Amino acid sequence: MRALVYDIYSTNDDFASILQIKDMPEPVPKPNEVVFRVRAAALNYDDIWGMRGSPLKVPLPHISGSDVAGDVISIGDDVSSIKVGDRIVSHGNLSCRLCKNCTSGREFDCKKRRVWGFETGPLWGGYCEVTHLPEVNAVKIPDNVSYEDAAACSMTLMTAWHMLVGRAKIQPGQLVLIMGGGSGMGIFGIQIAKLYGCTVIATASGDKLEKCKQIGADYAVDHRKEDWHKQVFSISKEFAKDKNGIPGLDVIFEHIGGTHWNKELALLKYGATLVTTGATTGYDVQSDLRHIFFKGTNILGSTLASKAELEDALYWVSKGKIKPVIDSVYTIEQAAEAHTKMLRGNIFGKVIMKP
Ligand SMILES: [Zn+2]
Repeated sequence: MRALVYDIYSTNDDFASILQIKDMPEPVPKPNEVVFRVRAAALNYDDIWGMRGSPLKVPLPHISGSDVAGDVISIGDDVSSIKVGDRIVSHGNLSCRLCKNCTSGREFDCKKRRVWGFETGPLWGGYCEVTHLPEVNAVKIPDNVSYEDAAACSMTLMTAWHMLVGRAKIQPGQLVLIMGGGSGMGIFGIQIAKLYGCTVIATASGDKLEKCKQIGADYAVDHRKEDWHKQVFSISKEFAKDKNGIPGLDVIFEHIGGTHWNKELALLKYGATLVTTGATTGYDVQSDLRHIFFKGTNILGSTLASKAELEDALYWVSKGKIKPVIDSVYTIEQAAEAHTKMLRGNIFGKVIMKP
């Protein structure tokens, strides 16, 4: 079978210089594993960190690919819930399934957690024709959901779901701010908050504002403008008038970090919640503590999600209430081009590759 492989890390993000298509033997399932033919895989920013070898030196030679959908072609002797022919998508959070965190439904907090296709290897990921996963990390795809949509959901949808539903526990009628509404995470964040009956303000760059509204945001604000937070606050004032309440946000969905952080803290109502999962513009932020203790602010961290949460979120995809957005589809031979496109950020939705 063909696989997309690299043996060395890239310099200057010249991905074309390291990526190769190689012929390899097909995997044979261990007793607890399923082997599946890959139909679609979604790109993930982890792929770029992997190729850079920074901030983590991934095992070499490496096959990336964490968000992968396909058809099961063989199963191990101990597998009981999945059969040959099933359509599955990866739950890329590999964990021990034995420790206290795992057995209390928090496999994302397992000390032995590894992200499949990023921290695993050598040569164990999804950018190839045939790959394998433990049975417990295979999620059945609802019949009316395509391989491309299932791959686009995988890690991104479950991470956004865990932030808003699992951690922030959003409620109908709340005013929710989705930072980076035009990103893969933000696109799902907007739709999850709407599914829960919230009013949504999304921030995005100017060219993505209209698209955020098309997928459900009630308001969209350009976060590259210096006064974006003032615009958000005036929207919350209008919203408060209708609700006879206090201006400010009930929940902020944060994955940007950097200079936006303190402005976000200032926008929260008393007793409100900020949930964060990333720091694309910088992690070393200043916090005005008065916004935290004086207002009784909840600051919640979040990473990945349980398998059950991925299944819950996929149910709503099958009901048409959450619609994955696909920016473009490439073949694995075009992987360097696809990853360069993602790196430049000029995308709206997920980038898909097919073997
Ligand atoms: Zn564990």
